[in-house]
Amino acid sequence: QAKKQGKNGFAFYEDSLSVPVQHRADTERLLRQALDKGEFELHYQPQIHLATSRVTGFEALIRWNSPELGQMSPDQFIRIAEETQLIVPIGDWVLRTACEFIRTVHQKGDNAAIVSVNVSVMQLIDNRFVERVLELLNETGLEPHYLELEVTESMVIESLDLIGDKLDRLIEYGVNIALDDFGRGFSSLSHLLKLPITTLKIDKSFIEQIPDNQEDQPLTGLIIRLAKDMGIKVVAEGVEKYVQLDYLKKYECDCIQGYLFSEPLPAIIARDWIKTASLPTLCF
Ligand code: C2E
Ligand code: MG
Ligand code: MG
Ligand code: MG
Repeated sequence: QAKKQGKNGFAFYEDSLSVPVQHRADTERLLRQALDKGEFELHYQPQIHLATSRVTGFEALIRWNSPELGQMSPDQFIRIAEETQLIVPIGDWVLRTACEFIRTVHQKGDNAAIVSVNVSVMQLIDNRFVERVLELLNETGLEPHYLELEVTESMVIESLDLIGDKLDRLIEYGVNIALDDFGRGFSSLSHLLKLPITTLKIDKSFIEQIPDNQEDQPLTGLIIRLAKDMGIKVVAEGVEKYVQLDYLKKYECDCIQGYLFSEPLPAIIARDWIKTASLPTLCF
């Protein structure tokens, strides 16, 4: 596929496999066994509710601890998993593990926190997806409103006829649907108005632009206000600086997620983070 080659920008030679091609083949081969070998792990990044300074959610982010390739970040393998359909069983494992995790958080005494899970379009176009989500909720004993599924604008727009109904049905059951990475690429306000979503995640590329002089950047604030007027919860991603926090508080953004408070954490640490979250770091 010409498109794929162009995007990666690799040169292809007639008689020898280029290094990237060989690497890709190795990655694919190892990825096929990774689930059975238990090499995946989920890390959880806390989301802080600004009005109460409390942790009200966690985003689950996959990690691949490959003995052969080392620590692999999702950007290094999710695309291959999608192209090979391996994302379907991997995504199923992610959903189950994330639901089990948030149950243990509730058992530790915090019964309000939700878990947010990235899903790929390959999972969503599967006809059994909605039933599978409900089945997993049932099996793990998790109520639907504690689960959020993150989708991206491009995947929803490109396959709205295939997945629009499914998102509507999930929302009817009480599952939250978040639009991830809003502001990356060609995000459009008219899309925002018609997509079946309950949460908007403003991409870090937008948050990064918040300057020291806050009057210079009303756009992010306007998006927050628009979403809130529509009854959509707003989460800011990639919050790294206090100036960004001040801005987001001023515009009454609901929740923030970012290195300023915590990077994604292994389950055992994330689970206990709620307790330590009453430390002064959160009393901003
Ligand atoms: P995403 O869903 O937009 O997740 C947020 C990414 O931003 C994560 O990268 C997170 O570690 C990073 N991040 C969080 N706070 C900050 C910050 O303050 N500054 C900066 N610079 N980055 C921050 P990560 O974990 O490498 O994941 C990358 C992408 O891989 C995710 O982007 C998501 O699209 C995808 N992904 C991760 N886990 C899964 C999964 O289980 N399934 C699927 N289908 N995709 C996944
Ligand atoms: Mg996400
Ligand atoms: Mg995502
Ligand atoms: Mg994102």
